[in-house]
Amino acid sequence: MYVELKNINKKYGEYQAMKDANFGIEKGSLVALLGPSGSGKTTLLRMIAGLETPDTGDIIIDGKRVNDIDPSKRGIGFVFQNYALFRHMSVYDNIAFGLELQKVPKAKIKERVEELLELTGLKGLEKRYPSQLSGGQRQRVAFARALAPKPSLLLLDEPFAAIDAKVRQELRSWLRKMIYKVGITSIFVTHDQNEAVEVADQIIVTSKGRIEQIGSPIDIYKNPQTPFVTEFIGQSTVIENYHRFHGFEEGPYQRAVIRPEFVEAFKTDNQNFNNYIDVSEEGEVIDILFRGNSLELTIDLHGVMITAVRSLERREVKVGEKMRVLIYRLFAFDEDKAYLLENEKLKGKNINNEDLESYLYNEEYDFFVI
Ligand code: ADP
Ligand code: MG
Repeated sequence: MYVELKNINKKYGEYQAMKDANFGIEKGSLVALLGPSGSGKTTLLRMIAGLETPDTGDIIIDGKRVNDIDPSKRGIGFVFQNYALFRHMSVYDNIAFGLELQKVPKAKIKERVEELLELTGLKGLEKRYPSQLSGGQRQRVAFARALAPKPSLLLLDEPFAAIDAKVRQELRSWLRKMIYKVGITSIFVTHDQNEAVEVADQIIVTSKGRIEQIGSPIDIYKNPQTPFVTEFIGQSTVIENYHRFHGFEEGPYQRAVIRPEFVEAFKTDNQNFNNYIDVSEEGEVIDILFRGNSLELTIDLHGVMITAVRSLERREVKVGEKMRVLIYRLFAFDEDKAYLLENEKLKGKNINNEDLESYLYNEEYDFFVI
């Protein structure tokens, strides 16, 4: 492991901002710290950087305990949310800043800055000032500046938060490509699950000063382990009384999460679904949102609201229309753990996968493919 945190605790006064954090990050990987605002992500990042001191525990980078090592000596590059570029300095001088501090010879600085301008696609903009750049360009300068002294670890704290949606999307894939090109171990903080899922190799989910789960994006998405992760990841609708639905028996769990990909809504006259009438629920469409490539239906199942996604290619649906809803599966949870429950009645049916697109059971994963 390139970075290791062992038994890290941190309090601000009486407030426990991080409790028993333990994790390792492999060399060359791109890891997301994902969690809601206030969950302790920045605190973790700042402790790794040396800008905060943990109350207990060890921070190990490249095999060395760095708790007592000055931030400037940890070989870390930092990119902040709000650009934090020097406003009175040109792009060139911003990128050169760290090298100037290290008293690198001018010719070497020039060589490195030019290399980074090339890498980050900022060539030609070196004389501009931050105010003459777009948000995306500024963040690219911040990235180049952080990389200039050739750090061995890059930390990024919500690097795209201040940038509008379209550019943010482009920057995500740009950042991923850049980081792989440079080959630097990187940790980035985000509260946006889509960002984490798209960009990272590994995700560390935080909530209320605790690490909830660590895993690959697919693993976190498909196998959420705790009630928090189950609700936080995916487009989750939390419901109670799920055992009143066909195929889900009375169990020890109080609450459950249904995701849109766990249900199929079909029109009551759709012959293809005749086989599933007895295992589906009656519902009424109460809202329809146009999501660009699909429709998102809110359906009232006798008091339980669920969300279903419907292809635009299928027949039109209207608000107020009665539909049938087949629930393939859901995540039920108790206080500490989430469990995947399959619709038991559906298991006994001879299922035609062409009808039920989402119901392609994947034995190997003990889960589904969608
Ligand atoms: P995140 O980055 O996930 O939004 P933070 O790590 O910034 O969360 O903060 C975690 C909690 O610790 C928050 O409740 C925040 O108010 C508190 N906190 C952060 N920094 C300080 C500080 N310097 N003094 C007191 N409380 C702090
Ligand atoms: Mg933060």
